[in-house]
Amino acid sequence: MARTDAMVLGAGIVGTSVALHLARRGLSVALVDRAGVGEQTSYGNAGVIEGNTIFPPAFPSDTGRVLRIALKRAAEANYHLAFLPRIMPWLLAFRAASQPDRLAETAHLIRPLFSRAVAEHEVLMAEAGAMHYLRKTGWLKVYRDKKSFSALRPEFDLAAKFGLPLQALDLAGAQALEPSLHPVFADAVFWPQAASVSNPLGVTRAYAALFATLGGIILSGDARSLHRNGNRWRVETNEGALDAAQCVIALGPWTPDLLKILGLTLPLAVKRGYHRHFLGQGNAGLSRPVLDADVGYLITPMEQGIRITTGVEFAARDAAPSPEQFDRVMPRARELFPLGESVDGKTWLGSRPCFADSRPVIGPAPGRPGLWLAIGHAHWGLTLGPATGRMIAEMMAGEPPFCDPSPYRAERFS
Ligand SMILES: Cc1cc2nc3c(=O)[nH]c(=O)nc-3n(C[C@H](O)[C@H](O)[C@H](O)COP(=O)(O)OP(=O)(O)OC[C@H]3O[C@@H](n4cnc5c(N)ncnc54)[C@H](O)[C@@H]3O)c2cc1C
Repeated sequence: MARTDAMVLGAGIVGTSVALHLARRGLSVALVDRAGVGEQTSYGNAGVIEGNTIFPPAFPSDTGRVLRIALKRAAEANYHLAFLPRIMPWLLAFRAASQPDRLAETAHLIRPLFSRAVAEHEVLMAEAGAMHYLRKTGWLKVYRDKKSFSALRPEFDLAAKFGLPLQALDLAGAQALEPSLHPVFADAVFWPQAASVSNPLGVTRAYAALFATLGGIILSGDARSLHRNGNRWRVETNEGALDAAQCVIALGPWTPDLLKILGLTLPLAVKRGYHRHFLGQGNAGLSRPVLDADVGYLITPMEQGIRITTGVEFAARDAAPSPEQFDRVMPRARELFPLGESVDGKTWLGSRPCFADSRPVIGPAPGRPGLWLAIGHAHWGLTLGPATGRMIAEMMAGEPPFCDPSPYRAERFS
């Protein structure tokens, strides 16, 4: 049997960053996963480190858009009809949280954490020898519809208030940054302070390798074996039982499987998403991620090729993939960028772990001494992994956290 100060369950970008921050503080730490480090949701994302996030993704306010989604004509969202009754309470809460006043409140609440996103990655990347994955080239959002570009005014106002630089560009300005883009849009916004990575899996693996050099142990095991053992937490691993005084749950979209066993309920849902890689035609290329905002997908240069990631799909986490949404995205993506052949045989599917108020839970689990939660990072888990790791490690070590943890408390749902 192994004994450590802390164990972290789940080795995605969030759990790995938490484990690394704890190890950097001199604690003995074990990181437990049933799969390989970083191979699940944290593998397949669009690679954007979006510290500029102002408003989180919102329920559409325009009835035309809702109707197009309902009729399955929109590329931005898909759903499984049979799943709608189960997800309806969450969707209603999401719609309520998407009202303009609530979005403005969220924007203020999340700013301190997001503002550290890029800097916290840079600290870990420098130590982990992973700087070659980082691109500090910003990201570009292109708008095909004048109306949606005009609707950005509140976001621009808050960006000015928060001191976040942006450049509103016309077609020529956007093509000066990304010459391969076709002229299917008239307006664009360049956010220069966003960053991105060329290989999200490589980043998580590099953080795990650094964790190991600091004495961290990586074990294979099923987190659902977690139980209280005296005043410690115990999990069964392939190498035997592991006991730790403190335990952090960072199981991403699989978190509810363990919470249920522990008798904890939190309203975590998933927004599924797909990706596929393509070659560019000829010498077409990209220097940064590009969001086709009105269509609702992202196109990112990755080591494997040009990665297209879809918007959201409301379906049971474990339901079979239904990549029809991808079929709606592809003709629109080919309008924007000269895509060549697909380089991978099948479409990747992942699940963003989401709370309806678009804030993760980072902090102690209610009523469970020594148990901590780092879950629900939704669209921005790559972005927030290292900042989350630092914040929770500071709380666990009894240090003052670098930003106010109260917006992230689990108790907000009770
Ligand atoms: C299409 C798409 C695009 C995205 N784009 C971006 C982006 O550009 N930027 C961004 O910041 N975020 C993005 N995201 C979101 C981001 O990928 C997630 O928020 C993030 O990966 C969540 O990380 P995690 O560590 O919480 O979960 P995960 O990476 O899923 O890690 C959870 C881990 O828990 C393990 N696990 C589960 N159950 C058990 C068990 N019973 N026992 C042991 N281990 C278990 C899993 O094997 C896994 O390794 C995107 C997501 C998707 C789907």
